[in-house]
Amino acid sequence: MDSGFDDFIVPAAPAARRSRQVLVGTGEHAVTIGGEAPVRVQAMTNTDTVDAVGTAIQVKELALAGSELVRITVNTPEAAAAVPYIREQLERMDVHVPLIGDFHYNGHRLLADYPACAEALAKYRINPGNVGKGDKRDRQFGQMVETAARLGKAVRIGVNWGSLDQELLAQLMDDNAKRAEPHPPQQIMYRAIVVSALESARFAEEIGLPADRIVLSCKMSGVHDLVSVYRALGSRCDYALHLGLTEAGMGTKGTVASTAALALLLEEGIGDTIRVSLTPQPGESRTQEVVIAREILQSLGLRSFNPSVTACPGCGRTTSTTFQELAKQIDDFLRAQMPVWTQRYPGVETLKVAVMGCIVNGPGESKHADIGISLPGSGEAPAAPVFIDGEKALTLRGDGIASEFQALVETYIEKRFGAGAH
Ligand code: SF4
Repeated sequence: MDSGFDDFIVPAAPAARRSRQVLVGTGEHAVTIGGEAPVRVQAMTNTDTVDAVGTAIQVKELALAGSELVRITVNTPEAAAAVPYIREQLERMDVHVPLIGDFHYNGHRLLADYPACAEALAKYRINPGNVGKGDKRDRQFGQMVETAARLGKAVRIGVNWGSLDQELLAQLMDDNAKRAEPHPPQQIMYRAIVVSALESARFAEEIGLPADRIVLSCKMSGVHDLVSVYRALGSRCDYALHLGLTEAGMGTKGTVASTAALALLLEEGIGDTIRVSLTPQPGESRTQEVVIAREILQSLGLRSFNPSVTACPGCGRTTSTTFQELAKQIDDFLRAQMPVWTQRYPGVETLKVAVMGCIVNGPGESKHADIGISLPGSGEAPAAPVFIDGEKALTLRGDGIASEFQALVETYIEKRFGAGAH
């Protein structure tokens, strides 16, 4: 049959942008960003850095949740003095995650006055819009970059549209106004953000910081703005890029906005490290931003952190909550076991489990998974076929379906990823 689709091929995703690889930290606990490295997850503490113990505890929580680098605020002499103690506390707790110092306004002084702080940090975040005005700007920026170059530290030149270099913006606006056909102001703002990042990076290289110690970011709070700016930035340089929607907000709004922005860029191969800047809900753990960042990367197929559970949303064909409970139970079970399983079962994070609500998509989706179960929908016989590696393996019945399926998953994992599997 000539369907007219004989030559139809679904285009593959664009090739990933190739950036320079940046080494953050030293020795066996150093983390690479960019190049061949996987897209890294970062987070930032919201403790008072002066509280060295409280900050170290939160850094540990974030690291255990999966943050591969953790940023802390370094805003006062007391905070700078606390940084080496935070590092010390972390080492005592066997946590070796690289620390990034977030500097604004007085970073040049703090790094000079607190050499132990400069040493304890693996990376400095410098905001070119907040390093000083007029002739102080280059001098103070230069002092920080010189310290980084001397100590072998990485630097993120982090432009943020909320603190954009106003002198640069004013100059570009003036230049634009003189054009016969001026560009829209929004375009000039985009340009100012990208120019600020690229010129600061060029200046840092002139001072002696190698390109493979530089990470750039241009954070915006609007999804469209962020995507536009990073597309422009990504096509104009090969520096490693840190992605994040700044001031994303709380809860669902923050999660969706961050996901939308990061997914668009990551799908185009833009971005070497990400942070989800979520405002925690009252009582919510700071680690939520790490959980979401990891989910974004796993959903896009860029990283695997946990086995994935495919569950249907349920509909009028599911009259009980059995399948919802089973899906949640399996998901919780897999996550809870992961700290042990990652050691015992290498590769288990790639496991795919399906828990489906009825015969419509249940068998098909279960066959696509490594192990899946299709629960009976309303009106169907009370039987739940289980599919293993695409084949129907057995049928479960009765009240013990949940625990029996869980046991089957465990047996499958042992067989496929256990010591005797290869
Ligand atoms: S698999 Fe069945 S129960 Fe689940 S959403 Fe589809 S039709 Fe509804």
